[in-house]
Amino acid sequence: MRLTSACTAVYGIVLDAGSSHTSVFIYEWPAEKENNTGMVQQLHTCNVKGKGISSYYANPDGAGKSLHECMMEAKNKIPANRHSETPVYLGATAGMRLLKMENEAASEKVLASVEHSLKTYPFSYQGARIISGQEEGAFGWITVNYLSKNLNKPTGTLGALDLGGASTQITFVPQQEIESNDNSIDFRLYGNDYHLYTHSFLCYGKDQALKLSMGMKLESTRVADKTKPIELRDPCFHPGYNFTKTAQSVFNTPCINGVNLPTGIISHVGLGNWSQCQQSIRKVFNITYCAYSKCSFNGVFQPSVDGKFGAFSAFFFVMDFLNLTSDSLDGTKQRLAKYCSTPWKEIVEKYPQIKQKYLSEYCFSGTYILTLLEDGYSFTSDNWKDISFIKKIGDSDAGWTLGYMLNLTNMIPAEAQDTPLMPDG
Ligand code: AMP
Repeated sequence: MRLTSACTAVYGIVLDAGSSHTSVFIYEWPAEKENNTGMVQQLHTCNVKGKGISSYYANPDGAGKSLHECMMEAKNKIPANRHSETPVYLGATAGMRLLKMENEAASEKVLASVEHSLKTYPFSYQGARIISGQEEGAFGWITVNYLSKNLNKPTGTLGALDLGGASTQITFVPQQEIESNDNSIDFRLYGNDYHLYTHSFLCYGKDQALKLSMGMKLESTRVADKTKPIELRDPCFHPGYNFTKTAQSVFNTPCINGVNLPTGIISHVGLGNWSQCQQSIRKVFNITYCAYSKCSFNGVFQPSVDGKFGAFSAFFFVMDFLNLTSDSLDGTKQRLAKYCSTPWKEIVEKYPQIKQKYLSEYCFSGTYILTLLEDGYSFTSDNWKDISFIKKIGDSDAGWTLGYMLNLTNMIPAEAQDTPLMPDG
């Protein structure tokens, strides 16, 4: 729904610089609180062509330039008389966190390049920075609860599950004490205090998890004849899938720091065996130690999941493609097993319009999601129905960007007000 022209609108722009791509979000809200019948809305999104900004580490200038078309779109969408007051924020997530770990100077150059580019548009530039995993989790939670109109009501809140390419976040209001300070975050919004549990697992986004899992399989593959390509027989890829890849394309990440890594060419061969795939994925979660009363994995404290959850970003893309957004946990497993065992040739014929890279990875990604939610976070067949796989709430995308902007523009007051800028009803 667009705001009527009689009511002056205010705008804000947030760029989500993710690991695989950048999206530009334009938000719109009424200027006069008295006239306010609604809330902040997503007016437009633009997907930047090409890969995420971290992929420009060797050519930082390209990062800034890549934003041009979408920023021009923003210029056209927002009335010219509002341009100079429209704030622009860029937040980079786990792709840039990884680049910073690997090559801090390169990550600074990439940020300088996007900063330089964003300053050339007629908006009010407010900064480009790498946001922390905690912020990513917390602002995703604010977004979904703002859009679900939960924040100024005594009703329960919605937990947030976010899956990107390089990290994944879980954020919710727990029923039990938060035993580690790193995982605790407090807000006061509209006069209510919220005590949130949040954790961001770097390297556990779906692209990095695939690398971790392939890396583990390769490490355990003995190579007798070093002159031949290494054969990686992979249960998470369809039968008949057979592609050659370079070992470098798998190990080019700070998420893998093995010492005995193979080099050269890998022949990646699909086996299409769901239960073996799940067994191989379980190995990326270390559950051998926990210094708290309970942990998810890798020694990270996690209270029992509680209440309803919205699962967005790649959680949605993958489960939506697989048609698994409303099945029981058991049904999900059965259908996924059938999908993984489908020959690659049939899959390609059935979905000619979908990028083969995505297509080849849905069996892995679906199995990873299931394993992360069930074995990692301890969802069960009883509370599986409490997870909604969502892309949008109303007209706005679920993700950290809206929460980030609401926070930076002081749009959500700590105390309840007579005419809060909140969803009515
Ligand atoms: P990020 O770029 O870090 O926000 O991560 C987004 C993740 O979603 C990446 O793993 C992308 O490959 C993935 N993704 C985006 N669109 C799709 C899609 N249509 N199907 C499957 N995965 C997708």
